[in-house]
Amino acid sequence: MPRPISAALHLDAFDNNLQVIRRVAPTAKIWAVVKANAYGHGLKRVWQSLANTDGFALLDLAEAVMLREAGWQGPILLLEGFFQTQDLALLDRYRLTTSVHSDWQLAAIAEARLSAPLEVYLKINSGMNRLGFAPARLPQIWQQTQRIRNIASTTLMSHFATADGPQGVTQQMATLDAAAEALPLPRCLANSAATLWHPATHGSWVRPGIILYGASPSGQWHDITDTGLQPAMSLRSEIIAVQTLQPGDRVGYGWRYAASAVQRIGIVACGYADGYPRHAPSGTPVWVDGVLTHTVGTVSMDMLAVDLTPCPQANIGTPVELWGRHLPVDEVAAAAGTLGYELLTALAPRVPVVTG
Ligand SMILES: *Cc1c(COP(=O)(O)O)cnc(C)c1O
Repeated sequence: MPRPISAALHLDAFDNNLQVIRRVAPTAKIWAVVKANAYGHGLKRVWQSLANTDGFALLDLAEAVMLREAGWQGPILLLEGFFQTQDLALLDRYRLTTSVHSDWQLAAIAEARLSAPLEVYLKINSGMNRLGFAPARLPQIWQQTQRIRNIASTTLMSHFATADGPQGVTQQMATLDAAAEALPLPRCLANSAATLWHPATHGSWVRPGIILYGASPSGQWHDITDTGLQPAMSLRSEIIAVQTLQPGDRVGYGWRYAASAVQRIGIVACGYADGYPRHAPSGTPVWVDGVLTHTVGTVSMDMLAVDLTPCPQANIGTPVELWGRHLPVDEVAAAAGTLGYELLTALAPRVPVVTG
């Protein structure tokens, strides 16, 4: 028998979540962001459940090629563009749309021998200060793209730093509006947070990632409870041993937890080598057999311990959900001081992925 842990994919959730996005952004096309192996869910496994999207956006050329060869014929956007001039041969062959954030990329496209022109997303640095041309250069660069025969069309692209928080998008939108004034450029700006909460950013295409997977861009589950988004993954395991602690007995590495009374605890086959966060403190929520309980002690590589006081019927073989349909990944992430993004993308390769 394998270890009882698995990541169950709820494939229906993907189409549901796409429909939610269509409702909130009815006039925009959707780039389904599937970077990082579809946020840990497995691109190969899930792309067909997202086939009602208008396009797929990702980073890795190999993933783009895989998607084409698997049969996706629609648009594919490379979010960070290409990394070397030689990559253009693959962009040409597989008809990939590329972001362009640096002068060398424009020069490389201008000089390439392509079978047909490429669609280009001009990335403007509107305040994130990661990738992109300075806003003041936009008119000149746009003119340049107009003269490059290898460019079929140009879209304005930028990325928001605070669309999920109180600062919102006002400052970056003002920067973009000033830079793009009077230029006839379609826009692609909105990540999940902007898609949900800032309709003025929607433009021609939105680029949602995390909400496709049913987690919150803000890290707060209550921010998306009313949207109809559904989690696409449940990380499940079982109790493989039970201990009865006496007052003062301690649990796990570092003996960080001590029982204050007689207490039953369950040992769950899930640890940080499965992708569960090691820094999750005692008290992190865990769903056991229909009841919410919490971890006790330090998460080990292969196991963690849970308090069985609220579920006295639990025993060896009892099902456990670490996150998913009964327990939003955002709540586990919040307890561990991180985001659902990090937990989902950190799912370890050793965890078998199943559907259902
Ligand atoms: C990851 C990413 C997105 C999607 O972000 P979410 O917050 O997951 O919606 C959109 N655009 C770019 C450029 C990205 O890198």
